[in-house]
Amino acid sequence: MTVTVRFAPSPTGFLHIGGARTALFNWLYAKHHNGTFRLRIEDTDKARSTQEAIDAILDGLKWLGLAWDGDAVFQSNNQARHAEVARQLLADGHAYYCYCTPEELERMRLKALAEGRSLRYDGTWRDRDPKTAPPGVKPVIRVRAEQSGDTMLDDLVQGTVTVSNQQLDDLIILRADGTPTYNFSVVVDDHDMSVTHVIRGDDHLTNAFRQTQIYKALGWTVPRFAHIPLIHGPDGQKMSKRHGALGVQEYRKLGYLPAALRNYLLRLGWSHGDDEIISTAQAIEWFDLDAVGRAAARFDFVKLANINGHYIRATADDELVALALPFVEEQLGQKLGAAARDRLAKAIPDLKPRAKTLVELAERARFYVAQRPISLDPDARKLLDDPARARLKDLHAALDLMVDGRQWNAPHLERFVKDYCGTANLKLGDVAQPLRAALTGSRASPGIFEVMAVLGRAESLARLADAVTAGAG
Ligand code: GLU
Repeated sequence: MTVTVRFAPSPTGFLHIGGARTALFNWLYAKHHNGTFRLRIEDTDKARSTQEAIDAILDGLKWLGLAWDGDAVFQSNNQARHAEVARQLLADGHAYYCYCTPEELERMRLKALAEGRSLRYDGTWRDRDPKTAPPGVKPVIRVRAEQSGDTMLDDLVQGTVTVSNQQLDDLIILRADGTPTYNFSVVVDDHDMSVTHVIRGDDHLTNAFRQTQIYKALGWTVPRFAHIPLIHGPDGQKMSKRHGALGVQEYRKLGYLPAALRNYLLRLGWSHGDDEIISTAQAIEWFDLDAVGRAAARFDFVKLANINGHYIRATADDELVALALPFVEEQLGQKLGAAARDRLAKAIPDLKPRAKTLVELAERARFYVAQRPISLDPDARKLLDDPARARLKDLHAALDLMVDGRQWNAPHLERFVKDYCGTANLKLGDVAQPLRAALTGSRASPGIFEVMAVLGRAESLARLADAVTAGAG
């Protein structure tokens, strides 16, 4: 049997982080078993489905690197097929027309409620002759579900779960307007797409019982189910906006790398010993459903940031420049010129070990790529008082005269500035601090001589000159 799984989001919003994990588990399961990973957009609810949401889902999956096999299936295109299957069930006697009015159904609901039963529909039309139908009522089609016995699921995550068939009523499969209902469409589509394993959030567990009954009525093989626990916020409550980002696109904007988010989501509800950093190749080799926990996983933003920091450090420098560039340009509000790009590339080895996200990396990169005259923060401005600027003017002249382009590297600059301080009878801090303020616009930065090397001779001298003349006017 070839494994076929599917991710079946409803396009009513962004790609939720929980949905992304469901997609990842499906994808890994398919890859592990050399199977097929399909995508089905469940867009039958036309009032709530939007093109924007479809685009967000497709983009989000692509960004995460979860490529699906074949074309995406749009559930709304299958409605004629759903109706055809419903009519087939009708013809075979496994479904029937129900002519109950909304008022009758409401009475049944209230009665069941008063009697403490969950069964709502009482089977009024199950065995009644449609010839006795009231005039003018458009019927729905209901499946003739088993009434006695149990429906049992052998869930690959939840274990054996059983519900008494008395708890389940005859579900509507086709509405009076001829449109299929949700549970019915899912069954027909999963069957038509040859889905062998349904891996999804455990909020669909109750649907699985109903869907099983539909499969049985149709005489189709029931797929294996695996209902994975939902993701909770750090406080154990259902993950919501107040916990932080929910949409995959938000994580992208916050500067997370797809591989890091994949790694983090994988560990959220699945484990392989104590392994935290798991490459995609390892994940494919190791992933199976038996190691998926039954308890809801708690989202841990600190852990995600740490994993992301790891992936940033593991990214090749030139690749990281390309990844960071849009973030840097966005923060700066403009495109980088060639010289600034070059400075960014040179700064990457310094920036890389410290940043947990690309946003953080871009913030730290800011002064390297800024255009002259760079802006100074209040502390830096305070440091650059008249005596400090006088010292910088002198240092500028010395550097300009004595250090050429070939010598413009961190060790040489450090030696030069230290010697300069010795000769001029100055403490290193008296020179280095204003120098840092002038070159970076702040009091804190990576090692100042490394900064000078990255900025290069021309840019460093020009920034120094800017600082010297700044207070002049
Ligand atoms: N469309 C459903 C959802 O977005 C998923 C249905 C399924 O996986 O069976 O929650």
